[in-house]
Amino acid sequence: MNKEKKQIIVYVDMEGASGIFDHNSGAFIHGSALWHEYGRKCITSDVLAVCQAANECKIDEIIIYDGHFAGTHEHNIIIKDLPQNIKLFDTRNRCFDWRRIRGQADLEPFGLITAGQHARYGTESAYFPHTIQSPPIKSLYINDKNIAEIGMCAYNFCGTKYIANIGCTASMAEAMEISPKITCIPVKDKKNKWEPDFSDTFPVIKENIINAINDIENKEKIKIDEPCIFKMEICGNFIFKKPAKISWEGTFSEKTALWSSPTAEIGFELFNFVRNCITEMSLS
Ligand SMILES: [Zn+2]
Repeated sequence: MNKEKKQIIVYVDMEGASGIFDHNSGAFIHGSALWHEYGRKCITSDVLAVCQAANECKIDEIIIYDGHFAGTHEHNIIIKDLPQNIKLFDTRNRCFDWRRIRGQADLEPFGLITAGQHARYGTESAYFPHTIQSPPIKSLYINDKNIAEIGMCAYNFCGTKYIANIGCTASMAEAMEISPKITCIPVKDKKNKWEPDFSDTFPVIKENIINAINDIENKEKIKIDEPCIFKMEICGNFIFKKPAKISWEGTFSEKTALWSSPTAEIGFELFNFVRNCITEMSLS
């Protein structure tokens, strides 16, 4: 194995992409006409800026998880528009199969970058805030840390340096709670009505990623105490239906599920089982 190989992990969502705002929100609806014509270009531009920056910094490999609208096969990013040295995480229909995702990356990646990111459910002045899928999910905690997609990905890569977060200004809070030394690269700000075009944010992302990679000595490794305690709360109108048998350590009440796991990775795998126990109350 070549110990000098530098691999960067890029976790991509779409609600926090450049160029997608309330007035054109259809751009992130996977499969819609606006998504095809415009939305894909927005997120691809952000990711291309990251890739070009990484390549200028002599990163050997960029491995991307395109996690928006997981459960469908077609990617959001336009792969042919990205450089040759990208690799894609391979999970069935791009699902949140976090252990498989972790296993496909190097044991010691150079760092993690998150792009296209949005804020947690309930965040004010945010574009499309949600926690994985809200409703039904209201909140998710790992050891009392309130996380959504950013935290899920970051804690799945414990031990890896978190380099930068790109997205809605309101998404920076979650990323900073995980690692205060990351580089924050906002591409839109609902509070200040800052809505630039993706062509305007491209050079900003690229320049800031180059600076962030060159500052790797000052970036910190993601860490969490293990074993981990997870908690999921669900929105009104939904309840947990406790399965007859559960094969992990956990408890359910109507609105809250708790589970523990020896590692963060395993806890995220169990998340999928817990999520499957959510049912909608009948509207009678
Ligand atoms: Zn998304």
